[in-house]
Amino acid sequence: MEFELIERIRAHCSLGRADVLLGIGDDAALLAPPAGHELAASTDTLVDGVHFPQGAAPRDIGWKSLAVNLSDLAAMGARPAWALLNLTLPQADADFVDQFAAGFAELAGQHHLALVGGDTTSGPLAVGVTVLGFVPAGRALRRNGARVGDGVFVTGTLGDAVAGLYCTQARGGAWAQLGDSQRLALLERMRRPTPRVAAGIALRDQASACIDVSDGLLADLGHIARCSGVGIEIDAPLLPASPALLDACDEATRIALQASGGDDYELAFCASPAHEATILRDLARSGCGATRIGRVTAGEGVRLLDAQRGEIVLARTGWEHFA
Ligand code: ADP
Ligand code: MG
Repeated sequence: MEFELIERIRAHCSLGRADVLLGIGDDAALLAPPAGHELAASTDTLVDGVHFPQGAAPRDIGWKSLAVNLSDLAAMGARPAWALLNLTLPQADADFVDQFAAGFAELAGQHHLALVGGDTTSGPLAVGVTVLGFVPAGRALRRNGARVGDGVFVTGTLGDAVAGLYCTQARGGAWAQLGDSQRLALLERMRRPTPRVAAGIALRDQASACIDVSDGLLADLGHIARCSGVGIEIDAPLLPASPALLDACDEATRIALQASGGDDYELAFCASPAHEATILRDLARSGCGATRIGRVTAGEGVRLLDAQRGEIVLARTGWEHFA
């Protein structure tokens, strides 16, 4: 049964790459990284009821399990190449596996990524994905390079994914009155995040530090501040919002979602003002665009400021396991 499931996965993810010398089917894959590059490796686990709602569509779980991993490679400026998939399933459900693999393969195809191995076991539903990618030697984006005077930027828009989650919960108020198309736009951001791979690659040699926004903007920028030994100020009125989010809630709620809601998978990064024009042009071309939202300062920590430069203190700054 296990082998039939693996065969199903393999059939969906049949994309071939010349640098895969041996893929699914032996004890280990054999892979040939290109000369002059470093291998970027990252892994993330999605657990039923924690990282996706119980009863989520298997296709969306397949997409998202890869998307969150590709987002980590994007934040390093790496180009994705290979993935391994660890599937834990409550039962040998061929339908589930087919749909899951179709969602996974849809995103893998967009990035010319080959699935080269994995493991399939029984137990409570969980999905672990490991991604491998390349970055030219010495050019990866890290968290520790931000300098006082740099601008702080973010790709795309913030807060939609958590707003999407709210739309699935019975929250009443404005959320209940949202039109179908707005609701769908927000839900789509939660179910099928877009990893900013092209943006990450464009930021090589341009950004001084980069991270993907998975836990919440302020929490994730906190990692850059700590690793770089700097402070960060964010101007709340500059945070980019989608039209759907602008319509969905009042300003205070929106700012809280943008600053602390997780799961957006945008890139937050710092860059010298000398690179700003090039970055904004290149990221507009890459499709997602970017917005300057603040600055790197001396000191430590991340502060969210209103239009009068007063500090906005939020109840929570991001998502944390075991909190
Ligand atoms: P082993 O017993 O040597 O670990 P497995 O029976 O677990 O081998 O897997 C057989 C082959 O199928 C291996 O090449 C493995 O990488 C691949 N494989 C197993 N599960 C998956 C999966 N969920 N996705 C992709 N490849 C898988
Ligand atoms: Mg195995």
